[in-house]
Amino acid sequence: ASSSGIDYRAELNDEQFGAVTSPPGPTLVIAGAGSGKTRTLTYRVAYLLDQGVDARNILLLTFTNKAAREMTERVRTLVPHDVSALWSGTFHSIGNRILRRHAEDLGFTKAFSILDRDDQKSLLSSVIGALDIDTKSRRFPKADVLASMFSLVENTGESLEEVIMHRYPYFDDWQEEIEKVHKGYVKRKLETNSMDFDDLLVLTLRLLKENEDLLKLYQKRFRHILVDEYQDTNSVQTELIDLLVAGGSSVMAVGDDAQSIYSWRGADMGNILSFPKRHAGCKVFKIETNYRSVPEILDLSNAAIKANLERFDKDLRSSREALGVKPALVPLQDPSLQSQFISQRILELRDEGIPLEEMAVLYRAHFQSLEVQMELTSRGIPFSITSGLRFFEQAHIKDIASFLRFATNRRDETSFKRIVLLLPGIGAKGADKMWAQWLKTGWAVKEDTPPWSEVLSTFKPPKKAETHWKQLGYIFDELTPNGEFAKPSDMVYSVLEGMYDDYLCASYDNAENRRNDIEQLMSYGMNFDDVLEFLAQLSLLSSADGEPTGDKSERDDEKVTLSSIHQAKGLEWKVVFVIWLADGQFPNGRVIEAEDDAMMEEERRLFYVAITRAKDELYMSYPLINPKSYTGDVIQRPSRFLDDFPKALVEEWQVGPSWDHEGVDEPF
Ligand code: ATP
Ligand code: MG
Repeated sequence: ASSSGIDYRAELNDEQFGAVTSPPGPTLVIAGAGSGKTRTLTYRVAYLLDQGVDARNILLLTFTNKAAREMTERVRTLVPHDVSALWSGTFHSIGNRILRRHAEDLGFTKAFSILDRDDQKSLLSSVIGALDIDTKSRRFPKADVLASMFSLVENTGESLEEVIMHRYPYFDDWQEEIEKVHKGYVKRKLETNSMDFDDLLVLTLRLLKENEDLLKLYQKRFRHILVDEYQDTNSVQTELIDLLVAGGSSVMAVGDDAQSIYSWRGADMGNILSFPKRHAGCKVFKIETNYRSVPEILDLSNAAIKANLERFDKDLRSSREALGVKPALVPLQDPSLQSQFISQRILELRDEGIPLEEMAVLYRAHFQSLEVQMELTSRGIPFSITSGLRFFEQAHIKDIASFLRFATNRRDETSFKRIVLLLPGIGAKGADKMWAQWLKTGWAVKEDTPPWSEVLSTFKPPKKAETHWKQLGYIFDELTPNGEFAKPSDMVYSVLEGMYDDYLCASYDNAENRRNDIEQLMSYGMNFDDVLEFLAQLSLLSSADGEPTGDKSERDDEKVTLSSIHQAKGLEWKVVFVIWLADGQFPNGRVIEAEDDAMMEEERRLFYVAITRAKDELYMSYPLINPKSYTGDVIQRPSRFLDDFPKALVEEWQVGPSWDHEGVDEPF
């Protein structure tokens, strides 16, 4: 019992209770899927508040911002304390929050723009262009590849040279030029007052490392640091936490080494394994009960992960009664039958009383969901999708955002060019010229807001763009009335009415849909008064961190979830379908070809994450024929992961027409 009346003993098992109520100091909870790690963290927050800890002294780091919101909501229902001063979110969003306060210390301004992958690519292309590298004779890495390289440098602590040597040996000859591009890129980011996603972590770390007073300030503020999904932290994140904790704060990390699935992005499961070593006096808790899945599903997942050698042995016991239904293994003729089966089954289950939001279809790669998307659409089954192009990454949303970004950050070359390129008669060269003219006006670095229409009227745009150019001036005047920023939703409105609507109609068949999206953006903007906060939120939402599409108010009610497995981490549903379980699809073909044990083990952990999302029912399906391959129809072998457990643990389903061998080339 406690001051808030929570009966911790009744709500938690012994291990969870031990962790939740452990005295200040480093604590690690390492336990399998569905054992209540996230629940433990949530109760820990409640417990701290119960003990009189001020909410502002708590920092909660989660894998998605949605998870952070849900956990804080849960805490709100548990204890009467005010939790609004508690900081919670992803590492990136916390980094953003800190950097907005102290950007000047790093040579940026508070209004810095956040570059997404697309923006990074265009900035990189312009750096490469300026360097005049002869890319004709030998293949030079594309902007996308360069962005990945640089990101690995930031996230692994390896030097650029090492990254090239270890992961991109093919581009070894270009090392000197790549170094130059890297330097140019860093410089351009500073000049354009913009940061990429990695900067949100790396620069936060640098800020605190180089500024003793600031570090002390945050060490004093965050007396209790809690981290979920710790197995997927990278070296920068680990260092950041360790630095904050070094001032004597308490840290509690929870995670599962068997669910580490982000090494391709620099995550290192060594961080969780070495946690006790790095934090003297660390208490380690292991939870061996699974509360999520029925024994039938749990037995399967225990067996599946055993095939990995690199892991801590931890058999989970189920706390739940057996349902008497084994996980289903469903071979299907082809992808189209697979999606028909899934849609059909979803409807049957709904008729049995399982709501749609308790069902999920999971896959390794986004493109594998397209058939299912089409089938669900044609049957009128609503779904929400948390992979692939997200709402905020769509071109028309980004177009609108670039107006807002440029109005607030006049050094933002990427946004400026994006806007200018919307005008008729202006191409990449023209955009460069306009940018040069803009720099000449000096307004990029002035403190006050320019009288936009006056300044822009001195430009010489191509004839075709003259009227549009004028409109631009009026729009920007509207975005910054009296030198202040208008409200975010009003800004969106000004851009739409001022010119973007005409552009949409002239450029797209589906202008109507796109306009609807923009209207949705406008209503999302109503949640904000401050345009900087609004823009930061857009950038964070479009990051690869598993946010749902649509605005904050949109509920997931009565919708099936379609999600990549990576983004399903930490979540649970009554019914889960894992699709495309064929060799070459999952595990991925590249991983099979690489013949690299570590990579294969990560694929298997991904499979483990997928099947451990299911509470009651699990369906594993694969198409026998993949008709989409370049080579014509290809017969697919069932995934090797399906050989890792005894067949007695699953029920094989026979669905649809029998497999017709004729006319199909045997690939083996
Ligand atoms: P993952 O590794 O997938 O992130 P997890 O270890 O974080 O899983 P949770 O999501 O916290 O597990 O818990 C899984 C489910 O079990 C949740 O529905 C949770 O409410 C429930 N649960 C956990 N512990 C208990 C408990 N002691 N009593 C009742 N239910 C519990
Ligand atoms: Mg969890």
